[in-house]
Parts: sequence; C-alpha cells; structure tokens
Amino acid sequence: MIAPAAPAPRLSIVAPCYNEAAALPEFYRQVTATARAEVGDDYEVVLVNDGSRDGTLALLHRIASADRRVVVVNLSRNWGHQRALSAGLQLCRGGRVLIIDADLQDPPGLLPAMMRAMDAGADVVFGKRRSRSGESAFKRGSAALFYRLLQRLTEVPIPTDTGDFRLMSRRALDVLNAMPEQARFIRGLVSWIGLRQVPLEYDRAPRLGGRSGYSLGRMLGFAFDAITSFSVVPLRIASFVGLATSLVSLLMIGYTLAAWVLGRTIVGWTSLAAIVLTIGGVQLMVLGILGEYVGRIYIESKRRPLYVVSDIFRADATE
Ligand code: UDP
Ligand code: MG
Repeated sequence: MIAPAAPAPRLSIVAPCYNEAAALPEFYRQVTATARAEVGDDYEVVLVNDGSRDGTLALLHRIASADRRVVVVNLSRNWGHQRALSAGLQLCRGGRVLIIDADLQDPPGLLPAMMRAMDAGADVVFGKRRSRSGESAFKRGSAALFYRLLQRLTEVPIPTDTGDFRLMSRRALDVLNAMPEQARFIRGLVSWIGLRQVPLEYDRAPRLGGRSGYSLGRMLGFAFDAITSFSVVPLRIASFVGLATSLVSLLMIGYTLAAWVLGRTIVGWTSLAAIVLTIGGVQLMVLGILGEYVGRIYIESKRRPLYVVSDIFRADATE
C-alpha cells in the first residue's frame, strides 16, 4: 500500500467509518494527539470509509490531504462494520495495531495503558466495558444476554462485555488476517487465537454524533454469525429435541394402540390437532437450525473476497 521501502510504523490505528462526519474531526484530533504523545511520528491512522452516505469521504480526504500519516481506504460500498474493519486490519502495517470506533465511544486515552500492558508481554489488550452510557436499555440488555449465552455455547472463552476496541501485536494480527471466514465475528476470532490476552476496563461513552450503524436486523445477524461460527451446540440441541419428540411420539403410539384394542377410539380431534401442530413446529424449528448452518456453509464455500477496495488515498501517493 505504502511504497515498499517505507519502514512499517510502530503503531497503526484502524477505524471503520460509516456516516461518521459528525464525530470525525474530533476523533482525528484526539487519536492523533494520543498517538503522537505515545510514539512520536512513528504511527499511521488507517480510516476505512464503509460506503458512507454523508460527507464522511470528503472529510476523510480533507484530513488525509493535510496529514500524510492518514491513509484513507475507500470501500466499494457498505460492507458492514466487521468487514470494513477487516479491510483496515489487512492493509495496515504497524507493529502494534489499535482497533477503535470512529464515533469516540472507545476512548483513545486508553492507548498508553494498553501500550504498557503490551510492553509487559501481552499480545492482545482488549477494552472491557465497565459501563455503557448513551445506549438504550434494550441494547444493553440484549448485549448482556447475548454475551452470556455465547459464553455457555462456546468452548473458546469469549470475554463478556467487550467490543473490538483493543490493541493487538503484529503476530496476533497476522494470525487474525490469515483467517479466511466470511462470517467475521472478530472479537471471537481474536479470542480463538490464544497467546496472552488481557482486559483493560473502561467506561463506554455515548456516541459523539451521528447514529449507530447497527439496526436490530444487523445485530441479530451478527449474533447468529457469532453463535454459528463458534458453536455446534444448537445442532446438538436440535438432535436432542428431535429425540425427545420421538420418545413422546412412541409413548403416544402405544397409547393409541391400546385405545384401539380397547375399542375407545372415536373422539380426539383436539389431541390430534395438538400433536400435528407440535410435531410440525418442532420439525420446522430443527430444520431452521440446520438451515442456519447450511446457509453459512454455502456462503463460505463461495470464497468471495471479504470486501472490495475502490481506492486508497494518502497525501504523498494515490493508487
Ligand atoms: N461501521 C461501519 N460500517 C457499518 C456500521 C458501522 O464501518 O456498516 C463503523 C462505525 O462508523 C463505527 C463502528 O463501525 O466506527 C461501530 O459502529 P456503531 O457505532 O454504529 O456500532 P455501536 O457502537 O452502536 O455498536
Ligand atoms: Mg458506536
């Protein structure tokens, strides 16, 4: 991306941006000041424009024109948070990489503490949310429920109450970048890597401006991706439910035969309807669970690229 001769910076800061015009100037100011205080000139800021529909791209160009440490990666359309982030992570070159949201919900001021933890030997220092202000009770409740459910379903311990806000070492990032999956639940993929991962607690601020890019549908899709990527327990539950239904059915067959032998077989529309509906419902549910996995196998099997870069912009070269 940058001329091959240019040495890799010590630190890369990677932020996906989707309709973030309101927060970007302040975000850029804070991130630059923090990075400069920490590593001097030895950093780059990779800002990924994820098909924004507001003035984000123009603003990014303006910022990058005046600062050659800023790299603007413009994607071909809106690819979603996790893929936009994947693009930034694959294109950045730093020895350490800070993943941060562009809406200032993740405080850049945590960088020094994260750097110290990494100096002490950590490969991943992840921000753990002590509190989340400015988010609806529904978002907080559903997030709490989801992370706890995930914890129970997976064998890889995925820390609760974490987002993607974290500092990663180059060796951990290289492993992450080598993972081919389309269903990118990045915080889970990072946990899967292992090495030394340590939490750093922080209070999550409200958005500085603009709106969350996660609709309810997107949040649900994200949750399903996370669960199916890391667990086959739902498939096992499906088998178990199927087995339990079969056992009950066997008992019912015994009962109907006995009733037939005893000649008591006339009434029974209610029970018949109930049985048909129950078994039909269970079958559809089990099929649905199967479908979630089969659909993901289908998507993975196509091996399409994770994102498409339209252009990359920096002050001293454009490609
Ligand atoms: N984002 C993105 N593409 C999207 C949605 C969000 O690049 O389709 C970016 C967004 O600009 C922000 C980060 O991902 O920097 C987190 O998104 P958001 O703040 O909307 O999520 P929330 O904090 O509400 O979970
Ligand atoms: Mg946010």
